[in-house]
Amino acid sequence: MKRVSLAVSAAIAVMACGVAVAEDAPPPPSSPVVKINAAAPNAKIETTPLRGPLAMLSGSGGNITVLSGKQGQLMVDAGLAVSRAKVEAALAALGKRPLRYLINTHYHWDHTDGNPWVHEDGATIIATAGTVKRVSTTTRVDDWQFTFKPLPAGGIPTEIVTSDKTYHFDGQTVEVKLANPSHTDTDLYVIFKEANVASLGDLFWNGVYPFIDNENGGGIDGMIKADDAILAQLNDDVVIAPGHGPVGTKQQLREFRDMLASVRDNVAALKKQGKSRDEVVAAKPTAKFDDKYGHFVIDPDFFTRIVYDGLK
Ligand SMILES: [Zn+2]
Repeated sequence: MKRVSLAVSAAIAVMACGVAVAEDAPPPPSSPVVKINAAAPNAKIETTPLRGPLAMLSGSGGNITVLSGKQGQLMVDAGLAVSRAKVEAALAALGKRPLRYLINTHYHWDHTDGNPWVHEDGATIIATAGTVKRVSTTTRVDDWQFTFKPLPAGGIPTEIVTSDKTYHFDGQTVEVKLANPSHTDTDLYVIFKEANVASLGDLFWNGVYPFIDNENGGGIDGMIKADDAILAQLNDDVVIAPGHGPVGTKQQLREFRDMLASVRDNVAALKKQGKSRDEVVAAKPTAKFDDKYGHFVIDPDFFTRIVYDGLK
């Protein structure tokens, strides 16, 4: 009997150990993190004017918004660290350095991995308390098959936004707004009042299915609620920098919100019928939208699983 118990204990130990090894092991090629990281070193950084002194840089994970003026530059999101030289060149082409502020829309690595170098270049980093917490610790995202390590000390935001806050930078009123739990539980977004530009982080993926971080406070209903709140604040002429995808309009944000609501209702109806997650995926509840939104790292099946898992 004793021998059996020992064997059982050993098996449990191996299982526990196996979990630890799996989390520390290199992520599989199917991980979206691996795909996005692999694309970045060779990607060109594209600069797209938004309006007035604002521009969007794309090609380094999540999109980066830049406000350039006489006082220096303010960035929203930092992209991936590997793109440092190219992003610095793009910033220099936009105007006068130094970097003064960096606002992180949320904790995800494709928006915060560049934090340490942006801070080294002079920026004070602004974020929610949730972002500070998650970039300071190890965070596992099973949906991405990836374990994120804490950022080095210089990359941790030092200015914490606990309620909506307005900054004044180089003639622009910069409104930092907290979102309800939605894409994650760490999201904020930024409205540049005079320029009539909004930088929404991953609350808006223009023309592609979004990732929603169910494991870290996100969920489909929260995403819809956050986008409703944003739509209520923006006027029709606003220029929008999304977290992923090209520069967008309010109409495109509305279409994205309506797509989320439609897929949510389809998935919820199938789930209510007692269908398993695999059966719901097989029923293709996103089919109507796949041509338009299904051509990025979050494919229709993956998006369906995310919506299913996020339903309360
Ligand atoms: Zn994200």
